Amino acid sequence: MGPGPINADPRVLRAMSAQLVGQYDPWMTDTMNEVMDLYRQVFVTDNVHTMVVDGTSRAGIEAALVSLLEPGDRVLVPIFGRFGHLLAEICRRAGAEVHTIETEWGRVFTEEALEAAISDVSPKVVAIVHGDTSTTVAQPLEGLGDLCEKHGALLYTDATATLGGNEFRVDEWGIDVATSGLQKCLGGPSGSAPVTFSERAAAVIEGRKSIEEGIRDVGDPVSAHPIRSNYLDMAQIFDYWSERRLNHHTEATTMLFGARECARILLQEGLAESWTRHQLHGRAMLDGTTALGLEPFGELAYKMTNIVGVKIPDGVNADAVRGAMLEDFGIEIGTSFGPLHGKIWRIGTMGYNARTDAVLQTLASLETVLRRAGHRAPAGAGVDAAYEVYGASA
Ligand SMILES: *Cc1c(COP(=O)(O)O)cnc(C)c1O
Repeated sequence: MGPGPINADPRVLRAMSAQLVGQYDPWMTDTMNEVMDLYRQVFVTDNVHTMVVDGTSRAGIEAALVSLLEPGDRVLVPIFGRFGHLLAEICRRAGAEVHTIETEWGRVFTEEALEAAISDVSPKVVAIVHGDTSTTVAQPLEGLGDLCEKHGALLYTDATATLGGNEFRVDEWGIDVATSGLQKCLGGPSGSAPVTFSERAAAVIEGRKSIEEGIRDVGDPVSAHPIRSNYLDMAQIFDYWSERRLNHHTEATTMLFGARECARILLQEGLAESWTRHQLHGRAMLDGTTALGLEPFGELAYKMTNIVGVKIPDGVNADAVRGAMLEDFGIEIGTSFGPLHGKIWRIGTMGYNARTDAVLQTLASLETVLRRAGHRAPAGAGVDAAYEVYGASA
């Protein structure tokens, strides 16, 4: 019940035990096409360039940014948590001229602040996290796509922590590039990064095409500004996932099976239903922890559905509590990073773990552990508050 990775859905684990298939087997290429179609639905987009990058979420982030940004390109990174710093760092390594604005952890940016920075910097790309698990809040993205378009910028979003469990609409919100991972709301293991690119973004990347010597066909373009990564070269990955099927890496078959099953489970439930389920269990955890006397962290109006941050009560040994939760009850809750280290715990209700039994067991265990650590709350208060949320919705 931490900020991710979380328990994988057993269906995903089963799908991943299937036999391997080579990447040019017709069955395999059909599966790749199916995965593209499934993730278009998950991202709510018609983008042709929708696929998975083999690697954890960070591989998707880096593939997107290193493929979009040439040395000297201006990029704006609004930072409101740990993963914003990661985006800025990746952009710097790509040689971009990185401009950042920052807000206090637990808060988000106003549209005015974003517009002022965009108009000031005039960036080629605005790179922003959607939900930053380090702070438990999500930046509202509606309207940002229009702002970026107005100022001639592409909008990149890291939706690793939110996709599948929080409303997220690529086309409607004018997002050019979004990347994600499986180990949060999608209920899978880390190791596959769903990605999607608008036509505008894909055109920028195609313009930097530089195909490896030896497999290049006569007439294939060679850019003067080739993408500075081979493995994460989205131009090559586009060709690999296109009908051309130009060889790149050996497709990670097992991860592909996992990614496919994650999307199938999600779409069988229904996207909107999954968003609502995450909202319900997130609310139950929020009310339950509040009833245990734990003060919630961050601007609640912008709280991600799938994670709650709670302030560690005075006089309680934070590591001992997490240790007892894990050792005595088999439940993991999260610590935190940077300015929040030692100040808040982060408790997730996401993917396969956004379930009534998981929430109630966590609250019951937490009450016991907190009591033994010297923090008293009315008996049964956490579980009762969660029941209240479930009752009210039934
Ligand atoms: C969890 C998370 C990641 C994780 O990246 P990995 O490479 O899969 O470890 C990235 N971005 C955000 C916003 C996250 O919450």
